Amino acid sequence: MEALYAMKAWELQDMIDRGEVSVSEVLDAVLARLEQVENEVHSYITLTLDAARAAAAEADRARDGGKSPGAAAGIPMAIKDVLCTRGIRTTCGSRILEEYIPVYDATVLERLRHAGLVLVGKANMDEFAMGSSTENSAYGPTRNPWDLERVPGGSSGGSAAAVAAGEAIWALGSDTGGSIRQPASFCGLVGMKPTYGLVSRYGLVAFASSLDQVGPIARDVRDCALLLSLIAGHDRRDSTSLRLEPPDYLSAMQGDIRGLRVGMPRELMQEGLTPGVRKAMEDCLQKFEQLGAEVDEATLPNLDYALSAYYIIAPAEASSNLARFDGVRYGLRVEGAEDMMEMYGRTRAAGFGPEVKRRIMLGTYALSAGYYEAYYGQAQKVRTLIIRDFDAAYEKYDILVSPTTPTPAFALGEKVEDPLAMYLSDVCTIPVNLAGIPAISIPCGLEDGLPVGLQIMGKVLDETTVLRAARVMEEALAFREKPGSGKGVGA
Ligand code: GLN
Repeated sequence: MEALYAMKAWELQDMIDRGEVSVSEVLDAVLARLEQVENEVHSYITLTLDAARAAAAEADRARDGGKSPGAAAGIPMAIKDVLCTRGIRTTCGSRILEEYIPVYDATVLERLRHAGLVLVGKANMDEFAMGSSTENSAYGPTRNPWDLERVPGGSSGGSAAAVAAGEAIWALGSDTGGSIRQPASFCGLVGMKPTYGLVSRYGLVAFASSLDQVGPIARDVRDCALLLSLIAGHDRRDSTSLRLEPPDYLSAMQGDIRGLRVGMPRELMQEGLTPGVRKAMEDCLQKFEQLGAEVDEATLPNLDYALSAYYIIAPAEASSNLARFDGVRYGLRVEGAEDMMEMYGRTRAAGFGPEVKRRIMLGTYALSAGYYEAYYGQAQKVRTLIIRDFDAAYEKYDILVSPTTPTPAFALGEKVEDPLAMYLSDVCTIPVNLAGIPAISIPCGLEDGLPVGLQIMGKVLDETTVLRAARVMEEALAFREKPGSGKGVGA
């Protein structure tokens, strides 16, 4: 039998329901694994082991008392440190929030707690979710469990690494331009960015509010659907939250993909793909056809401008959102300043890392009088064109597919000195955030022993079709690889 820490949430729940294993035993297995690998991988910023043990014991007591434990009960989980957790510090990977302890839970946390959450800890991330490698964390980088010399991706790199290494069974991340899908792809996992507005952003520390979404990182599509069902739904505390009752994704995603119209945007298959990624994509398209889908080349003509538009819009929103970290309300304050302006300046100089400062400067510039129309206004127009491109494509296709990333996980240190190279690793994922549509990444092959991801994009609120296609492809692809013990942490 597979080790408990390596199993899927739904498998563990079945075993727990049948009384074959207790929630505490599952947790112990995960914590023993954590003990073994965390020094090397560094998935977490803050561990909450005592609370996890208490939650596990509580779930076991409830079950012994004949009560059925919640849907998340017994499943040790990692939460990206950008989500507010009441009484547990929430750093966002930044020095400026090193000692910040929220007084409330994010809505997604609240929901998970109702479902019996067993929280192992707060996962490492690029500072304020800005980055693609988790090297921008003020708490040191996370390493890829498949190859410890490589990055796990980012910005939700800690969440993905924790699941891939067996230090959690599933996790939550956030995705503004690819931060769930890209690390899921680099770590051989399933990661999903839901439709904008499907999951509450209340208590998610804002990076770029018009792009941010919370979503699941899991070991298979079924777990991903299960976790999505637990967090999706209207929240009156988030003004952009959609008023709707989400379906039960688990049952809604059943069925085959015969006759499904699959478009492959040619703009996402251009230069920059490694041979292994290209090959894996070609295999996927063939599989789609074998499964009865109709595959065709699609076009999203304005996609070439997506990255540029994103790197105006996201920093612009960030510069405004991050103005609240001023030494007065949250976290760090540098003492000894002569006046308030100096206190602001010194606090922000000491509290923010270089990438965050770069974004604040870019964004402030793009929003400043005289440049606003030329940059921010223009980028918003491009965003509209991209939304229209997707709308037009979805008249012809049910889903669009592409690689999640142009290359598998890159080496630690390879791109830190070159922001543009780092930004380019998100070319395939960023358009999805600009358009607000849902997309998933599933593992679809290996290149040089490293996982490659397939991205499946859907229409607004059509998570069901995305999940169904992902589930059918997952079964057909039968990706069973695990991190090896040579360069990685071993299965
Ligand atoms: N890597 C992208 C950025 O740095 C996306 C990050 C994210 O999705 N949070 O902005």
